[in-house]
Amino acid sequence: MTIKVVTFDLDNTLWDVEPALLRAEQVQKDWLSMHRPGAMDSYDHASLWEFKKSVWQRHPHLLHHVSQMRIQMLYELQIAAGYSEQQAHSGARDAFAVFLRERHQVVLYEEALEVLQHLAQHYTLGALTNGNADIYKTDAGEYFDFAFLAEDIGASKPQPDMFHAALERAGVEPRQIVHVGDNPEHDIQGARSVGMYTVWMNSQGEEWPGGEPADLEIDNLRQLPGAITRLLST
Ligand SMILES: [Mg+2]
Repeated sequence: MTIKVVTFDLDNTLWDVEPALLRAEQVQKDWLSMHRPGAMDSYDHASLWEFKKSVWQRHPHLLHHVSQMRIQMLYELQIAAGYSEQQAHSGARDAFAVFLRERHQVVLYEEALEVLQHLAQHYTLGALTNGNADIYKTDAGEYFDFAFLAEDIGASKPQPDMFHAALERAGVEPRQIVHVGDNPEHDIQGARSVGMYTVWMNSQGEEWPGGEPADLEIDNLRQLPGAITRLLST
């Protein structure tokens, strides 16, 4: 059986997500302090964290919907500060829009485009993310045949739903897919449990946390084409 499809996690697999997330949190905060003064600036880091947790606890059905959860949190921050429902709704929508625009300003690993372009000539490529990044808003978009977000599917990795969606979309057997990701549980355990091959993207040189390891490990995307070839000869 040959490998036909390569699916990728996005954050910390094709790019470092932290710089974009930090900038996105900052522009969201700046937007609120300018347009909804008092909504967020009365919180310090710890109390804002408590507030977020209380939103998660009150809306467990949004746990796999990271965008809706953020919008709900922004809405409740404004209500708590005394803004009207209408103001809070429009404020949540607009603050989220500035967040998302900045969150998409990710910088792909420098080798990523070259590797993806090469792989796209041989395999169908897909994106499977628990976050709210849109691969089609990055320079890598043209190489991807499909992309699923946990919030569209209604379940996050390591649950099998997104992997099943990929199998169905690509019309292949599990042993014809390699999933590449940085998260041992979400990506490696999750993909293995549906029968896919797995490649652990370990760019930070972490220790494997235990349990059955990935089929292969890489620390740079450049190693991926060779790794996939090796999978077939094992
Ligand atoms: Mg990741």
